Amino acid sequence: MKEKKLSLTSQIFIGLLSGLVLGVLVHYFLPAGPFKDRFLINGLFQLFGTGFMRLMQMLVVPLVFFSIVTGAMSIGDTKRLGKVGLKTLAFYIVTTALAIIIALSFSQLTNPGIGLNLSEVKTAQTEIAKSAATGIDMVLDIIPKNPIESLTSGNMLQIIFFALFLGIILASLGNHVPVITRFMNEANEVMMTMTFNVMKAAPVGVFALIAKTFSDIGFDGFLPMVKYMLTVSGGLAIQLVAVYGLLLFIFTRTNPFTFFKRFSPVLGFAFSTASSGATVPVNIQTLEDMGVSKKISSFTIPLGATINMDGTAIMQGVAVIFVAQAFGIHLELSDFLTVIGTATMASIGTAAVPGVGLITLAMVFNSVGLPVEGIGLIMGIDRVLDMARTAVNCSGDAVVTTIVAHQEGLFNKASLYKAKSVDEED
Ligand code: ASP
Repeated sequence: MKEKKLSLTSQIFIGLLSGLVLGVLVHYFLPAGPFKDRFLINGLFQLFGTGFMRLMQMLVVPLVFFSIVTGAMSIGDTKRLGKVGLKTLAFYIVTTALAIIIALSFSQLTNPGIGLNLSEVKTAQTEIAKSAATGIDMVLDIIPKNPIESLTSGNMLQIIFFALFLGIILASLGNHVPVITRFMNEANEVMMTMTFNVMKAAPVGVFALIAKTFSDIGFDGFLPMVKYMLTVSGGLAIQLVAVYGLLLFIFTRTNPFTFFKRFSPVLGFAFSTASSGATVPVNIQTLEDMGVSKKISSFTIPLGATINMDGTAIMQGVAVIFVAQAFGIHLELSDFLTVIGTATMASIGTAAVPGVGLITLAMVFNSVGLPVEGIGLIMGIDRVLDMARTAVNCSGDAVVTTIVAHQEGLFNKASLYKAKSVDEED
């Protein structure tokens, strides 16, 4: 028999599935004790899972910084950059609004909260939303007071702002600053190579992350929440197939199935880490293999990871209907419009790390007077949904990036169709 090396994609999926099986086995069949708790779950799984996650996080800030500077330098002319930026922003906002509309309408069909009847439960309104920043503050906060501090604290929007500005200036100075320009290009190259090497550990990291999650939670607590979980999953699937599939086909004439097949390592990776932030390097790298130029993705993917969270918006839309129904609260049309607005803002304000969507959900609940206690209902099962919605968050960024790259003549479709064989051989 011919010996064939498994592609990284296949290895990641094997890691994911075996982690799932082992996690469930450990949760249900291994008796509690030091071996299970200290050696496996909080020992080996923690070491390799969190270790891998930290390796990816380690790369994010320098990678995003250098790739945006070099991306802006290579696009060069500011008019084009502005056009790309505005178009990307418009796509991000429209797809998020669509996601919430899908979530609200789909949950009207499935009625996930009917039957729970919690209207008697006393609720105490908390004031979390009051502390949320105003629109002006949010815009002002994009401008860093101290860019070094933005870099050290990992404030992505500020990093993007500063890096874009720097890249544009370097492009305009051209040959006058050859040393800095060369330094930026070489540093970017180094970061990409580091990413490539860290990715080799992905199968083990993914295995350990999934094994830890499922050995911690098993399937407990899922049953009463099945309708809610299915509604969120259905909404995510509709967004993936109908919205992204159609957008890809309409704007780029590519086959969505081929696209998502090639894109699947990113899906598996986002699912395992539940962090769009940690997925940025893999997303850029995979899109490049699929023919999408880094000139676009190096700018739009970090931006999308920071502000575009369609999967999170879907969870929040379903959660609104779920909690309103469970507590017997009637929502008017104006409430739905408010939810579309606040959930879009929440998607922009949600940090690209695990679980934050649940925190910004408080802002959405408060905007229409839903009890924030409702969040407690869904907290226990949120981890798995977080994984699924992060995969959709990252897909949204990639689809918009591909469309914008196509319109700028920076999407080489031939690589999408032909590179499969290369992938199989790597
Ligand atoms: N985990 C999500 C992400 O990183 C954010 C969230 O919805 O909690 O994209």
